Amino acid sequence: MLGDNTFTLSDRPRREYLLSQLPRLPTLSLVLGLTFAYLVYLVIYTFKRLGHQHRAMQQSNISLQQEIYTRSQLQREIEWLASHDELTGIANRRHFLDHVSAHQSKRPLSLVLFDIDHFKHINDHLGHLVGDEYLARIALLGEALMEQHGGIFARYGGEEFVAWLPGLGIDDAQRLADTLRLQLIDACLTHADGQPITLSAGAVSVINPQPIDMTRLMQIADEALYRAKREGRNRVAIGGDIDG
Ligand code: GH3
Ligand code: MG
Ligand code: MG
Repeated sequence: MLGDNTFTLSDRPRREYLLSQLPRLPTLSLVLGLTFAYLVYLVIYTFKRLGHQHRAMQQSNISLQQEIYTRSQLQREIEWLASHDELTGIANRRHFLDHVSAHQSKRPLSLVLFDIDHFKHINDHLGHLVGDEYLARIALLGEALMEQHGGIFARYGGEEFVAWLPGLGIDDAQRLADTLRLQLIDACLTHADGQPITLSAGAVSVINPQPIDMTRLMQIADEALYRAKREGRNRVAIGGDIDG
């Protein structure tokens, strides 16, 4: 009792109060429903977005791996091209000289220069493409034979090849060069008139342990090769054993 007013304290809402609130119920339900729907939408949207980002990341991972693979392939190709002759697929002059620098301690060791006989005739009468094909065939024959004996066979330039044979003296080098000469005749690569393609070679060996003078070695092999040419081609001439 407060003045003339009487107040009643109750822990339950009065019936009249509840009835008065009844018209506001749909609005409240609508607001609650919309809020719930918005929350559901937010969850679904977030999941979708995360899924999308995940797929995009997977895709960029795949692209990155492809890029790495392509680049390493390219790198291998560049390295291969730097050390090999593109036409024949065997070692090129640069690779040959690098190899020689790294493998010149053995004694005896031999160097053989090869030059295809009358190669210009092949280009002139059978065409440049046939010439290319012959060079590739000769290169593979030489590579197989020299590698079989622990050596390296490279295209030195044009229709000239070179072999480096650690551990082989002049007799073995001459025999090996002659084997390649005979293998070439057996390969039945012919000139336009049916004559077999032949090669000439010049060989030189080092027997003493002194450091090698490569320029001198090449010069002696070259002189021997041109002696083989002068003496009628299709043969191996030797520059002998030198001191280094
Ligand atoms: P020789 O018996 O005195 O060695 O005579 P040759 O005709 O072999 O020598 P020459 O030096 O006159 O000619 C070499 C020829 O090799 C000329 C050149 O056109 C050819 N040649 C060099 N490189 C290539 C090549 O990559 N492909 C082709 N098809 N021919 C080449
Ligand atoms: Mg030549
Ligand atoms: Mg020639």
